[in-house]
Amino acid sequence: MSACLFCRIVAGEIPAQLVAETPEAIAFRDIAPKAPVHILVIPRRHVDSLTDAADAAELGAVAQLAARVAVQEGIAASGYRVVTNVGEDGGQSVGHLHFHVLGGRALGWPPG
Ligand code: 5GP
Ligand code: ZN
Repeated sequence: MSACLFCRIVAGEIPAQLVAETPEAIAFRDIAPKAPVHILVIPRRHVDSLTDAADAAELGAVAQLAARVAVQEGIAASGYRVVTNVGEDGGQSVGHLHFHVLGGRALGWPPG
């Protein structure tokens, strides 16, 4: 059994509200949403963070799924944000690469 929370979600060991999937990536709702739409898009394979993402095709698949999910959730026209937090200063709390897809309201900039 993997110790990584998101690997366990990929394996189906921890339930998640799946919204889309591809052979390379899955998308599921964030358990503590920060916006009306807040979805996490992750590679199925464990990658620690963007810094460690060495497979361009895999990274592209994650990015494309993020865009597809935004369309699917109806926030593509109004606008949305895709962000990946890296490391301590970046605010990363789960050590498995994930893109946040946030939308459904106007998002502040710059982030805190
Ligand atoms: P980070 O802080 O690493 O950028 O983002 C991690 C995200 O994962 C947070 O937004 C947090 O709410 C979400 N999260 C943490 N644990 C779980 C979980 O068990 N299930 C789901 N769906 N999201 C989670
Ligand atoms: Zn993992």
